[in-house]
Parts: sequence; structure tokens; C-alpha cells
Amino acid sequence: MTQSFKHIFPLLITFLLMIMSPLKIDCQDSKKVNDIIRKKPLCTMTLKKVEREKYVQSVISEEAFNQTRMDGTYNIPVQFHLLRMSNGTGGLTAAEAATELAQANIRYAGMGVEFFQCSPVNFIDDDVLWNTVFDHDWDNFCGQTNAEYQIANANNVANVVNLYYVNTDGWNWSSFPSYVEDYCKDWIILDIDDIGTTTLLAHELGHYFNLLHTFQDHNDPDYNEHITRNVGNSCWNCPVTGDLLCDTPADNNSWDNACNWDGTGDDGCSNLSFTPSEENIMSYSDCPEFFTEGQNNRIINCILTSRAYLNCPFLSDCETTWNLSSTQNTMYAYQATNYITSTSDVNSGANSVYDAGNYVKLQPGFHAKAGSTFSAILDGCWAPVIFP
Ligand SMILES: [Zn+2]
Repeated sequence: MTQSFKHIFPLLITFLLMIMSPLKIDCQDSKKVNDIIRKKPLCTMTLKKVEREKYVQSVISEEAFNQTRMDGTYNIPVQFHLLRMSNGTGGLTAAEAATELAQANIRYAGMGVEFFQCSPVNFIDDDVLWNTVFDHDWDNFCGQTNAEYQIANANNVANVVNLYYVNTDGWNWSSFPSYVEDYCKDWIILDIDDIGTTTLLAHELGHYFNLLHTFQDHNDPDYNEHITRNVGNSCWNCPVTGDLLCDTPADNNSWDNACNWDGTGDDGCSNLSFTPSEENIMSYSDCPEFFTEGQNNRIINCILTSRAYLNCPFLSDCETTWNLSSTQNTMYAYQATNYITSTSDVNSGANSVYDAGNYVKLQPGFHAKAGSTFSAILDGCWAPVIFP
């Protein structure tokens, strides 16, 4: 959201409410008003008390890696799964999915992280699932058959970030890294009605890389984060409470309908006033813009430890050369810094990409057969391959 839009938006909302208030509002109109007010998509992610100790240990072990700045770009593979009606209508288009990813990448660029589509969009055309209200089931996990497990178990691609855009009735949720082991869960569920919200995907990816909401446990007297950042103050507890970060101000999640903290509440210890950041992507304010340095570091360390398994299964390692001769039947991209030669058959149904730094040489014996997709590009490992 640009600076100017930030200032105009609250005024616009006020204006809309003013012109709508004299009208008789039936149920349908009432929902529209709520939608206008509820500008920020809702996310259900929270750390349950029983999960807390394990979470703390995971952060300690990730941060022991102590990677605090990126020395290059980390390319993270994602897979879009877009639910539509059986006739192929409704839901997101591939172009809208690409826009969502581009918006997320803007927020991660500063930490050297870039998400890319590891394989083409997977459309799931199914009237039954389309009409299912997806809900986050906090009590039923591995082996369960509710809608999110059904759709994920049938479609998940291993070792990538799986993004499902479905009908969730207003909710979005993600997976903390511990969910893989504890809940057999490794995906993100997003509400198709919330597309176009420039930080929704960035926010859910934040949880995926072990970030908590800035207001985590704000109403739990055992773990609520106090306001002070003075280590000598007896109320100081920011490293072990809330989101376990001291560079995100204590946040009691008390926002008005714009971007302003409403001024209420206290931290139960000091006489200080809250000054939560309305621009933090992991807050519930209406104006999220950025992650803090502490959040950046947690994401990076998570990428390098708990989520180090993320690796697009359709891309080769980056070699100096490839000399190919075997038959190709699947979707796969070969990457080389220097050159690729091939005498292979690319069979019908295959999607084969040769990505070399200097040249690609198709020698006698090479055939891209009818029904196959073949492309050669001269990039050479510098950017992730996007399959046609
Ligand atoms: Zn959230």
C-alpha cells in the first residue's frame, strides 16, 4: 500500500459509511458493509500452550545457526493449487496467482528470499470441494479426512510450499514447521475472496517460516509481552514472551478500523503505553508493510534449518555441463552453467527444459516428439526455471 493510499483509505471508508448509513440495510448489504470494514483478511494461526515449549526450542535451535544476513538469493519453490468449479470457472486464474506471488516477493526481497513456481498451476475442478466451507480443525490432525487434509493429501507436491486457494468463509491459515511432524501438515490454505490483499501471502508465509503474530499471547497473563525494552526494567520479558522478538513492539491487538492503535489496554506490569507497529506484516493492523530485522533473521534461519528440505523436485542440480542421452518422459529441467548437449528422445507428455549458460546443442538422435513440450534457454542456473 502506498503512503498516499494509506492516508486516503481511512477517509474513503468513512465516506462510504457516511453515504450508506441513511440506507435501510438488509442482511446482504450488512455483509457488504462488514466486508468493507474488514479490510484485513483473518488468519487463525496461534501457538497453543501445549506447543509453546517445543516452539521455543525450535527457535533456539534455528537461531543457533546464526545466519543474520543473506549472501545471495534463496529461491524457494511453491506450488499453487487453485480450486474451481467442475466446469473450470470460479477461483483464481494463473495470472492472479502469479500476482499474489509477486506481491509476496516484494516483502521478502530485502532478506534475499525469492519464491518461484516450481511447476505450473494445478487447477482442481471439483464442485463438491468448491462448495465445501474449509475450516481449520485444531483438534484433528494426522489421518483425518476433513476438507483441508482431503485436498492436500490428494494434491500436495513434496518438498515445496503448497498453496491452496479455496472457499474458507473468510479464514486463512498456514503451518508452523513443527506441524510437519506433529500434525502431518505442510501447506497453506488461503481464501479466494482475499486475493489482492498485498500482504496476505507474505503473512501466511511468515508463519510457515516460524513467525508468530506480534500479539501472540497478549491476553494470557503467563506469557503476555510487556512493553518495556529496557533490559534493566523488572518488567522486561520480550525475549521469552509474545512473539519472542524484542524488535517488534508489544502489541495488544487493539486496532481501530484503520491503522491506528485505539489507545486502550495495559501490559499488566508497567505504566507504559503500547506503541505497536501498524506496519508489521505479522500484526492485525490494516496497514501491514514490512518485517523487522528480527523477523527476517528468524525466517532465514528457518529456511536454512527446519525448512531446509524445500527443493523443487523438477529441477536438476546446477552442473557445469550435461550430456543427455536418456529418454525423457516427465516434467524436468536440466541446468548447467556452461553447456548442455542431447541425443535424447523427449516423449509425448514430457515437459523438458534445457537451461545452459553458454549453449544448448541438439545432436543427431535428439527428437522432441509430437505431444511433448521442449524449450531451451540460455540463463544457466541464475534464475529458477518457470515451466511453460
Ligand atoms: Zn496470521
